[in-house]
Amino acid sequence: MHIVVCVKQVPDSAQIRVHPVTNRIMRQGVPAIINPFDLFALEEALRIKDRTGARVTVISMGPPAAEAALKKCVSFGADEAILLTDMAFAGADTLATTFVLMSAIRQIAKAHPVDIVFTGKQTIDGDTAQVGPGIAIRLGWELLTYVSKIRSIDTDTKQIVIERRAEGGVQVLESRLPCVITLLEGINEMRFADMAGMFRAARYDVPHWGVAGAGIEDTSQAGMKGSPTAVAQVFAPKPKEVKALVIAGDTPQAKAEALLDRMFADLPKLEKSLLDHLDAQGARQ
Ligand code: FAD
Repeated sequence: MHIVVCVKQVPDSAQIRVHPVTNRIMRQGVPAIINPFDLFALEEALRIKDRTGARVTVISMGPPAAEAALKKCVSFGADEAILLTDMAFAGADTLATTFVLMSAIRQIAKAHPVDIVFTGKQTIDGDTAQVGPGIAIRLGWELLTYVSKIRSIDTDTKQIVIERRAEGGVQVLESRLPCVITLLEGINEMRFADMAGMFRAARYDVPHWGVAGAGIEDTSQAGMKGSPTAVAQVFAPKPKEVKALVIAGDTPQAKAEALLDRMFADLPKLEKSLLDHLDAQGARQ
């Protein structure tokens, strides 16, 4: 069994601000982290590895600095990590991103056939949740989204049973392998890297795959060239105005009465239903 986990290095969105004048995202000094959703995907893959001895390969498309994220994945227990980095990949929208990731997965599968591709549900910066489904469509594999639990995997019959969160309940689905799975957040708790993992990661030389490494012959579908999306505008939403109401009164009881008067003026039916309720209880004074 071979699982490929897609991880993206993202700016820590909790620390991102939009410039009030230029409306550009201010990334300076913002630390880069592994997309938190992807850690749930990695942990799930590592749990399958613990149970079945599966091979886990992590891939990321991004700038050379994204190597740090991949080393971290190795420290947690990934067997292999590959960085997809090339000027030809820069400026990619989700369509071009899925093209590069799909090409790399096909290359990886040549050495070790891939059974499952895991992605996070979405990223905290792009936030589109399009990449997982896009990879599945490009590979022509089954797609299972919003997965909250892997119930069983049968490597002989190539069947997988999962639970996915759907509106109003949980669906239990059986699918065949190979497949692409997008995993929900909060489905597991990420492990800590142990000392052996940290030493391995420190020594691990992350291979960089460019156009040739990813097996791409025609770059017209990668990077800016392969990205039909145009960002028309980036702006911070205006803060909502919240009006505060000062309730006057000399005593707490006077304030409470003034508050009730105000509420009953705004919601006339409330007074009647409250009085009816008190009458029914025999509690009106
Ligand atoms: P989602 O679809 O929300 O992600 C779902 C899951 O897919 C993730 O949890 C993860 O598991 C996987 N995944 C997503 N992205 C990657 C990745 N890169 N590597 C591995 N796994 C991944 N981004 C840049 O970094 N540099 C740019 O120059 C750049 N230029 C852009 C230009 C345009 C016009 C647009 C529209 C976007 C650009 N982006 C750029 C953003 C980039 O295209 C998206 O972040 C990327 O396509 C992934 O989309 P998402 O973040 O919405 O991922």
